[in-house]
Amino acid sequence: MSSLQQQIEDRGLQIFDLVDQNPESIFTKAGFYQRMMAFSMRDEHFKVQMFRFVDVLASLRHSTDIVQHLSEYFADMRNGSVPFLQTGIKAARVFPWLTAPVLRWNVSGMARQFIAGRDPEDVMKTLRRRRREKIGFTVDLLGEAVVSEHETDEYAARCLALVEGLAAQTKGWRDPLGKNTELFPVVNVSVKISALYSQMNPADPEDAIAHLAPKLRPILRRAREVGAFINFDMESYAHKNATLQLFRTLFMEEEFREWPHAGIVIQAYLRDAERDLRDLIEWGRMRGTRFTVRLVKGAYWDYEKIKAAQNGWRVPVFLQKPESDANFEVCTRILLENESIVTSAFGSHNVRSIAHAQAYAEQLGIDKSRIEFQLLYGMAGPIKRALVEMGYRVREYCPVGELLPGMSYLVRRLLENTSNEGFLKAKFSDKAGPELLLRDPRSLIGKQIRPGSSIPGRNGQSLDTPPGDTYENSPLVNFVHEKSRDRMRSAINEMRPRLGQKYPITIDGKKIWTDNFIDSINPSRPTQVVGAVAEATVEHAEQAVVAAKKAFEHWCRVSFEHRAELLERVATIMDRRRFELSALEVFEVGKPWAEADGDIREAIDFLLFYAQQMRLRGLPRLTQHVPGEESYQHYWPRGVALVVAPWNFPMAILTGMVSAAIVTGNTVIMKPAEQSAVCGAMLMEMFEEAGVPPGVLNFLPGKGRVIGQHLVEHKDVYMIAFTGSREVGLRIWKTAGETREGQLELKRVVCEMGGKNPVIVDSDADLDEAIVDTIYSAFGYQGQKCSACSRLIVLEENYDRVVKRLVEAAASLRVGNPEEPGITVGPVIDETAYRRMLATIETGKKEATLAFQGTVPPEGFFVPPTIFTNVKPDMVLSCEEIFGPVLSVLKVRDLDEAIRVANDTDYALTAGFFSRSPANIERVKAELVAGNVYINRSCTGAVVGRHPFGGFKMSGGGTKAGGGDYLLQFMVPRVVTENIMRHGFAPDTTPEFRAPFSVLK
Ligand SMILES: Cc1cc2nc3c(=O)[nH]c(=O)nc-3n(C[C@H](O)[C@H](O)[C@H](O)COP(=O)(O)OP(=O)(O)OC[C@H]3O[C@@H](n4cnc5c(N)ncnc54)[C@H](O)[C@@H]3O)c2cc1C
Repeated sequence: MSSLQQQIEDRGLQIFDLVDQNPESIFTKAGFYQRMMAFSMRDEHFKVQMFRFVDVLASLRHSTDIVQHLSEYFADMRNGSVPFLQTGIKAARVFPWLTAPVLRWNVSGMARQFIAGRDPEDVMKTLRRRRREKIGFTVDLLGEAVVSEHETDEYAARCLALVEGLAAQTKGWRDPLGKNTELFPVVNVSVKISALYSQMNPADPEDAIAHLAPKLRPILRRAREVGAFINFDMESYAHKNATLQLFRTLFMEEEFREWPHAGIVIQAYLRDAERDLRDLIEWGRMRGTRFTVRLVKGAYWDYEKIKAAQNGWRVPVFLQKPESDANFEVCTRILLENESIVTSAFGSHNVRSIAHAQAYAEQLGIDKSRIEFQLLYGMAGPIKRALVEMGYRVREYCPVGELLPGMSYLVRRLLENTSNEGFLKAKFSDKAGPELLLRDPRSLIGKQIRPGSSIPGRNGQSLDTPPGDTYENSPLVNFVHEKSRDRMRSAINEMRPRLGQKYPITIDGKKIWTDNFIDSINPSRPTQVVGAVAEATVEHAEQAVVAAKKAFEHWCRVSFEHRAELLERVATIMDRRRFELSALEVFEVGKPWAEADGDIREAIDFLLFYAQQMRLRGLPRLTQHVPGEESYQHYWPRGVALVVAPWNFPMAILTGMVSAAIVTGNTVIMKPAEQSAVCGAMLMEMFEEAGVPPGVLNFLPGKGRVIGQHLVEHKDVYMIAFTGSREVGLRIWKTAGETREGQLELKRVVCEMGGKNPVIVDSDADLDEAIVDTIYSAFGYQGQKCSACSRLIVLEENYDRVVKRLVEAAASLRVGNPEEPGITVGPVIDETAYRRMLATIETGKKEATLAFQGTVPPEGFFVPPTIFTNVKPDMVLSCEEIFGPVLSVLKVRDLDEAIRVANDTDYALTAGFFSRSPANIERVKAELVAGNVYINRSCTGAVVGRHPFGGFKMSGGGTKAGGGDYLLQFMVPRVVTENIMRHGFAPDTTPEFRAPFSVLK
């Protein structure tokens, strides 16, 4: 055994001995809390339900609500598996007035275990007690998630007051060790950086720093004046780089460069941790003043894993617990080896991690008083006491705040305490012995993978999902990474000189130029022409039909495998040109960076998903096993397909419709929207590079009224795939229904139209989530998504609070030219839309109350984000699709009325619901009339394969884009039946699939 390991074990055993002298349960509170935690550790389902119940409890106002929720959350556990609950629920039914306060009291008690005080005054009692135990403090202000700049200002003011208050109240307090005291000011405040700027966007760390620095400077200044220490806490990975950069920027400023009392957190569960720490130390040496690093493992492990799986990103955290433990030790050694410039604060309850730090510090000859151990309030009391007894410096992390904002902190602690992988549970609940608890984590890597903790597929599919039913989405670009931001910035810069190019029509593989061009304009700068496409005439339309019809004769016989491979090649090209295409969308349709990338990602997904789906449906399939006969169903393509696409998802929707038509064996005339015709030209280019044969895809930009109308009426066009407005959609539907002279096939129309999408906010909804997601659903891409939320229906109990926070959040949105990273609201598509929306807003002002209207840049088609309140269901604002950044808020009495109002519309596209009542959620799942119903999340952002997308009523006639049934619309089904009995003899079995039907040569 190495001498370091020996020393770690010696120290670990010493800590355990001291811990055992003052035995205390893992949880200091007995009774309800202990029983609840014990059940949680035994039963995962109970744990999930219990923590969800705890999460909602603080926001419930009435006793009956509490009883109702309790009963709903534990509806399936009333059979006695959890006796204390069963009794509770029964009692609650009889005496709600008695039980609800008792429950609330119990949960408040639980929260009080982890929350050191209601407010800065209240926390002083705790701090004084700890002082007597020789334990220092760092205070953290709990708060709701900030959704607006108003809320961030409040947080900043609270931080400043906290620094002042703590300094005043602790005058005369001395450092408990009395040695190296200059490194460890008594007053220590932990600041949550994300609470100081509501518009932090991973794509734009510079903007974050520009807003955060002015909020932090007064706090830092005051802290320095009163001799306090400020620590920057670390939150989710999305904010990590900005937080590090902010720290380096601020503390290099002249004013703070020589101030040593600043610290930042490094999270050892991150794969980046070692590199970040080394960079930070290098920076510290350059700066030339000491600073502190609090080393922790990290509090957002589950969240990071889930987020990465949802977006197809590399998981930023280690996946095995011993890897995090081992990395903690790597970082510990780096910190201690650089003690001359950085002070170490070890934030851990794990005796092995602590003992390792102690042993290594001793090996390096670092005095005990020069390092600090930090532990959370309400956890691991005996370990804190043991460390104090051993002569170490201990500081307690003390969250302060009310119960409601404290709930998410409480739930994080409950999860941590019941985690099967956690040290505290292993030691205090499972009673693992020291030899297990003190093992070198490196020796455990790869040995402890439990079922469920293995690396999930990118989409989190379990291994028993049938192959073929799964589709791995292409990843989104993660703008957290500097390289991604650089690539996007370069792509935008490289696009600028290319603007204004001309693009021809393509028919039968030939390029055709015309005298007339349609200019595609940058809506952020209407004087800038993004590109000009040749305008097709009716004659061109005729030529295109002839070419497509001719090409169909061959293409319909090409194997589906060959067609699927074509799509896959296009996807590869699109992926290669990804940043360039995103940059084009920024200029051509005013998409903010992440929205543009989302559109290209979706286009790639359509190509790959439909290729996969075609393979699943390409072979003739036996309809039934019946002796003596075989019947196979298969599909034929329809013929010439016309694709008419909108500008709002200029690559995704166009690609989706085109690729579905082509992979099923149809030939296509592609008419992009005039406003996004350059995107259409790019798609044509990519298909050509991928080897699409002449005539199979024809690019026909032009005026809808002219060529669109002509082609819809054309006797040889059998299939029309349209996405766009209700007005045009209904006209196509009607026109296509009339048969013409010489027409041999009834036209099939796939028609996706608009929505008037409602989102309901229940009385128990988590408003932090509801506000952020509604703002995104309503104003993301300027509300120009057919899925966008345009009616927010709020139950009256929450109405005032929702409106206040919503308006403040809207006022904080970044509106501007989306060439800038981090813009949320850009311009609307063109002057017509701009004028129409401004007129609608004027109408709205006459019928409802204008609660908010933003300000916008003077140049470009910018419509101010607008919120109307006191909107009634029969007003124009409630009924007509606006397709812009205008949100109407309606107040309703109860859920019955909310559902009635939500469903009372011509449309049925998307709908959302925010609630924490399991019964209400189930009800809404059953009753909301919409093609896509979203619970507790935004109502936009459908992902191919995951959220097959599309509606009914006046929202569309056709089935789900990006779903398993979509391709069927582009084909005619055929069944071929053969009697295979000869003189009473027939084969025993018939294969389920057979080769495609083809003429034998
Ligand atoms: C004073 C203090 C301040 C803190 N400040 C912050 C902060 O600003 N930001 C922050 O994010 N965290 C912070 N934390 C850390 C966090 O809240 C947890 O308390 C801490 O990660 C628990 O680690 P441990 O060493 O006590 O326990 P252990 O039981 O040894 O470790 C548990 C940790 O291991 C990691 N882990 C769990 N399962 C796995 C797995 N399968 N694979 C890989 N890793 C896994 C997780 O990080 C988990 O929290 C702080 C902790 C303390 C004590």
